[in-house]
Amino acid sequence: MQNKKIIIAIDGFSSCGKSTLAKSLACELGYAYIDSGAMYRVVTLVALQNNWISNGISDKEKIIKGLENISISFKFIRETEKNTTFLNGKNVEEQIRMLDVSNNVSPISAIKEVRQEMVKFQRQMGEEKRIVMDGRDIGTVVFPQAELKIFMTASPEIRAQRRFDELIGKGQKVSMEEVIKNINERDFIDQNRKESPLRKADDAIVLDNSNYTLEGQLEWALQKAREVIEANEN
Ligand code: C5P
Repeated sequence: MQNKKIIIAIDGFSSCGKSTLAKSLACELGYAYIDSGAMYRVVTLVALQNNWISNGISDKEKIIKGLENISISFKFIRETEKNTTFLNGKNVEEQIRMLDVSNNVSPISAIKEVRQEMVKFQRQMGEEKRIVMDGRDIGTVVFPQAELKIFMTASPEIRAQRRFDELIGKGQKVSMEEVIKNINERDFIDQNRKESPLRKADDAIVLDNSNYTLEGQLEWALQKAREVIEANEN
């Protein structure tokens, strides 16, 4: 199993558990896990820090120019057992998960030049295969050749509750209304933008995990992965 190389693309709506599944699947298979959403969050963080976004309006030119000075990397930190995102060598994992970043990330990720730059980086990370990447356009744009594509969804109530619990667990002060509003807005922008909108790839398998346990969905995905890996051996 360890030597077989495939790319696994996991796409879907906000807060339906893509990263949780992607991480555990990568861990079981001995693959790398890459969170493409973290990259768009980093660009958004930089834009916010530099006041390139004000009152929800972003200064596209400054953001595009600013891409030159952004170097993103990921490391697995043993002590916290977490995949951690770095911006120019600095740990920004917590900052990029703040609601302020979530509230501004979708318009930033709709900018063509931002996407081009991120996709280039994502493809480099997939050169060696043996990777599980999650996002919105991984199976449609980044790796249309991915051997296994999963499109995840869950009911809006369940997604909002999961997101709310996650943010509260991290000590952030949010209301359920804010969480629902953010999820709805991001989904709307992600599905309706001109550049690489969120959609299911024709050859993706749908996983509605509303009624799945974490173990159940991992088992389901592992079985799919093993079938594809075996098929690729022949
Ligand atoms: O995955 P996550 O929710 O952290 O992603 C944050 C945002 O980044 C999404 O709401 C979406 O707007 C954008 N994104 C994207 N394409 C990806 C991954 C994320 O446009 N491949």
